[in-house]
Amino acid sequence: MKVNFYTSQREYQEKKAEFDKAIENVLKDGISTLGKEVADLEKSIMEFTSAKYAVGVASGTDALVLASDILGFKNGSEVITSPFTFLASTSCIARHGGQPVFVDIDEETFNIDAAKIEDAVTDKTVGIVPIHLFCQMADMDSIMDIAARHNLKVLEDAAEAFGMSWKGKGSKYKHAGTIGDYGIYSFFPTKTLGAYGDGGMIVTNDEGLYKLAKSYRVHGATEKYHYDYIGYNSRLDTIQAAILLVKMKYMREAITKREVIANWYFDRLKDCQGLRFPKIKGEQHPVYYVFNILAENRDGLVEHLKKNQVQYSIYYPLPLHLQKCFSYLGYKKGDFPVSERVCTEIAALPIYPEITEDEVDFVCHTIRNFYK
Ligand SMILES: *Cc1c(COP(=O)(O)O)cnc(C)c1O
Repeated sequence: MKVNFYTSQREYQEKKAEFDKAIENVLKDGISTLGKEVADLEKSIMEFTSAKYAVGVASGTDALVLASDILGFKNGSEVITSPFTFLASTSCIARHGGQPVFVDIDEETFNIDAAKIEDAVTDKTVGIVPIHLFCQMADMDSIMDIAARHNLKVLEDAAEAFGMSWKGKGSKYKHAGTIGDYGIYSFFPTKTLGAYGDGGMIVTNDEGLYKLAKSYRVHGATEKYHYDYIGYNSRLDTIQAAILLVKMKYMREAITKREVIANWYFDRLKDCQGLRFPKIKGEQHPVYYVFNILAENRDGLVEHLKKNQVQYSIYYPLPLHLQKCFSYLGYKKGDFPVSERVCTEIAALPIYPEITEDEVDFVCHTIRNFYK
């Protein structure tokens, strides 16, 4: 049995009429940038996340770059983050000459180890970029405490975290991306809220930061052809927004489905020799954007999966402190042992709302056979 890591084709077949109609409406309205659907999606996301403001941009990466620029992550200022993540979480700091300062991750959550952040703070530190990775949020209580003590800006990379929320020691759950100064989401196709191309969004509860993000999205203009800042051309495409509005109608269902699938995996693999699983820490609602295992002889296992036509993904094979593009930061092998070890053990199994129980059975059967 061939098992796709991800495909949008089943979703499209199920909701073809709605997707086709949504796209047709945009085309009928005539050519537009920042069309009505973009504003409608921003509103829909504000309602879903309880963020006060939302600004649709061209990608999650752009969202991080705009936010970093506005927050002053540049010109030698130091920003603390973790090296076990997608490139864009750190390249946004380096883009304008900010200095990424890494601290290692928690070995059970893969998120930044909040207990190690304060040791990395210097008089040049201006911010923290926590990443809410795979299925759960970083320890936002500790991060916000440290930020308050040292007067740091917090940019939440919630690219993967749509639908996740954090209660921690607070009185109510807060959606990922709405706790720090800015939060960002990615609409890359595989993400929980994925488009059929690129897209992203910046959210904030601060009116001033909202106005800046809105202006930076269109070249730093405050009114047509009047530029207060040197900004970007980074608009969320209207057709992608129309597609995402259809997907928002089914968001709760899609999140629940991901949880059901994660439980299929847990049930079938929990007693499998050779495997360990990440742990959810802190009072929070996880969302299974990715289902990861930590595997003994990971490379042998994925070779076996490949032979049996089970697609998988490795997030991430090499931590950022060892990437060639960041060699100028001067880090070396051994600096972040947890990140480095997880890179050799981790593997992501197929999970998306339309995957079937038979397919999950086959994936689990294939894995159990390998460890027999
Ligand atoms: C996907 C992702 C991004 C980048 O989003 P794009 O929309 O692909 O540009 C940034 N950070 C993390 C952690 C991601 O997973």
